[in-house]
Amino acid sequence: MSKLRHECAVAAVFAKNKDNNIIDKLLASISKMQHRGQDSCGISYVKDEKITNKTALGLIKDNFLNFKEKSNIAIAHTRYATIGKINIKNAQPYFYNNVSACFNGTISKSENYKRILIKKGYTFETDSDCEVILKWIFSKLKKNSDNWSLNEVSNILNSDFKDGAYSLLMLFKDRIFAFKDIYSYRPLVFIETKEEYFILSEDCITSEKAMQKIELDKGQGIEINKNGYFLTKKSSSNISKKCVFEVVYFASKNSNVFNVNVKEKRIKLGELLALDDNVEADIVVPVMNSGFWGAFGYSKKRNIKLSFAIKNNENILRTFIENKSNRNKAVNEKYSIIRNKVQDKNIIVVDDSIVRGLTVKKITSLLKKNGAKSVHFRLFSPPIINVCLWGVDIPDKSELLAYIYKSKDNNIAKELGADSIKYIPKKLFCEVFNENQWCHNCFRKK
Ligand code: SF4
Repeated sequence: MSKLRHECAVAAVFAKNKDNNIIDKLLASISKMQHRGQDSCGISYVKDEKITNKTALGLIKDNFLNFKEKSNIAIAHTRYATIGKINIKNAQPYFYNNVSACFNGTISKSENYKRILIKKGYTFETDSDCEVILKWIFSKLKKNSDNWSLNEVSNILNSDFKDGAYSLLMLFKDRIFAFKDIYSYRPLVFIETKEEYFILSEDCITSEKAMQKIELDKGQGIEINKNGYFLTKKSSSNISKKCVFEVVYFASKNSNVFNVNVKEKRIKLGELLALDDNVEADIVVPVMNSGFWGAFGYSKKRNIKLSFAIKNNENILRTFIENKSNRNKAVNEKYSIIRNKVQDKNIIVVDDSIVRGLTVKKITSLLKKNGAKSVHFRLFSPPIINVCLWGVDIPDKSELLAYIYKSKDNNIAKELGADSIKYIPKKLFCEVFNENQWCHNCFRKK
């Protein structure tokens, strides 16, 4: 359901043969992750030993479809703005002093780092944490970036940005660095094919046959250069905090993230959601797209027919828009109902989660207007009752439906106009996503 938003996708491609052009493969890869951010996009590529940086507002397909440049090393980015305005200045990659960087995530207390750097004479052009990190590393290493080593950059990141949640790429004229935060909040996978090395937020690359795939571990960095690839050691901590919403909602259904197959996990959650649910229904209806595999698992488990009765207008890319009136308008325009599929039917609607409840309210009202006898909402993640401090754009608690109604199903159902509502029990959810390995903070009171 379009209500949680993320920051971005990152992609890098390095040709094993320096005469090969990888731009098309890079653009194909980043386009497949366009769902992670649609505000702006950009690529940085090496040509004649120089980095060129091109950024634009909007989608990859609208800006880079006819891109003719050639390169054997490049990185790309798509942005969803959680911090800073949607403008060309904040588009990534960010280029500075012969390094280009792009970033998916957040660092805490970024203003503090900025203040220290300004005192040292640095100036800032963007609102992005990516610029802060890059200039911080320059300030610490005090040398030309051609002489930076993977380990020294990794050590700075892991000691100075411990509270961060990020995947970070850096492009130099002849190599690429990539890093993951020390708790592994965000996914980042390295893939080797016959002709290239890729580093991606999600592994949904085109027809490439992967010879090997390595999900970067906690605090791990990787360098790719003409001699191959080199990994740093992972953090020694036993605790990971992988964001569960990467699997439940953000990632493409065709992806693996954190070594987890997104489709399989969503089916499993749908099956668990169906356990002990006895509500009578004629059809199970998914909210597309992220609700689909959960609905599939639910309908299979309960042997109730799956029906595509809700149409999703793909042109409404973001229901989560800055002001309330735009948001309401977008939700109103996003969904329509196929009347003959729902008339006189008892319906179970399956989705991944509820944030403010705007979409659920709208869908319930549309289903009832189209003759549904009853509408029962089923969610395959627990109630969201807390904000996210690690870069996912969850609104203030006062706007969170489950927080307002203290997770009481009857009260939430009444507010939404639904006949009943049921969330997956937290215990079952934790069986799929162990709390020592996965972040569950937005489901916790404190
Ligand atoms: S608080 Fe929720 S949205 Fe934020 S990282 Fe943790 S699981 Fe993901």
